[in-house]
Amino acid sequence: MIWIARARARRSARGSGRASVHPALGRLRARVSSARVATCLVTGGAGFLGSHLCDELLARSNRVICVDNLETGSLANIEHIRDRERFMHLNVDIIEPYFVDESVDYVYHLASPASPIDYLRLPLHTLKVGSYGTHHTLGLAKAKRARFLLASTSEVYGDPQVHPQPETYWGHVNPIGPRGVYDEAKRYAEALTMAYHRQQGVDTAIARIFNTFGARMRPHDGRAIPTFLRQALANRPMTVFGDGSQTRSFCYVSDLIRGLIALGESPHHDPVNIGNPDEFTLLELAETVKELTESSSEIVYEALPVDDPKQRKPDITLAQELLGWSPEVSLREGLRRTIEQAGAAMLVGGSS
Ligand code: NAD
Repeated sequence: MIWIARARARRSARGSGRASVHPALGRLRARVSSARVATCLVTGGAGFLGSHLCDELLARSNRVICVDNLETGSLANIEHIRDRERFMHLNVDIIEPYFVDESVDYVYHLASPASPIDYLRLPLHTLKVGSYGTHHTLGLAKAKRARFLLASTSEVYGDPQVHPQPETYWGHVNPIGPRGVYDEAKRYAEALTMAYHRQQGVDTAIARIFNTFGARMRPHDGRAIPTFLRQALANRPMTVFGDGSQTRSFCYVSDLIRGLIALGESPHHDPVNIGNPDEFTLLELAETVKELTESSSEIVYEALPVDDPKQRKPDITLAQELLGWSPEVSLREGLRRTIEQAGAAMLVGGSS
């Protein structure tokens, strides 16, 4: 039974003897067969990565409860699965306590603003979702005895002084810079996750996700690939920060989701990097996008944002050894698939 904690508190305050059934639950129950399938709760399931995760979990015959208040996500991302059997969306803000009465086997905790444009616009929300939101979601996993996976980030390494970054590297983060709200929220979320594991015995996992791309990225979310695609497809100037020599690695979304599920279903507790180690300069990325889109855009240079990391590349030895996971889709192939699946109109978006 799906039931939100606030409603439960109101009910017990009234001394009511019988629990009401959330209307969403009635529909879910009616649709789900009695066969035992794993139930996966995905916070942030209406976002870019979360919606792809929901797709893949459904494709693997799981039942999925997507918890998302649509702060940076969109119903459009889950439109194609909203009426699907075994899927339910709950519009809940996880900064507030929440609860799901139904049994849950896996909790994938992805809810958080993730692009610089979002977390710079929502600094307090970003800190609260990483702290309160993670605390509430870990509490739920504990109550359900569910396996919990935190979607952490390569941003915990900050502007790294070790290259490539292994999980043992503690990072180089400016806690009071503008990006600190995101980096420190995730570092706190990792500490909280390990504390729930060590003190409360919760079965937890931490995925350190590196830059990922694919269809359903928002054209104006400020990250390099959607920005370059939007500009190139509209034949507008492509803006490269600095001299474009800073490097990034880019993981195609299907590879990332395969890695997340492999880690989620594994017995491992320590952080594991999930990303593609193929390294490109931002200038190389801009030139590849320009070539693939047959664009006439010119490349222009703008000032580097504050605390922009100069290098970012995962050491994925641990993921390879523990999970047998490696990325399979090249940057070029991933860009081709993204353009094909999203379509030029979607990638260009409403305005420049
Ligand atoms: P996204 O913004 O598309 O998705 C985040 C989702 O969380 C959105 O649907 C949003 O509405 C939801 N959300 C935010 N605050 C919420 C709240 N208080 N209650 C309920 N839902 C809330 O971002 P994304 O790119 O899909 O990232 C998903 C996760 O993966 C994030 O935790 C992010 O830190 C992590 N990550 C992503 C990348 C990447 O390259 N996309 C890289 C590293 C880490």
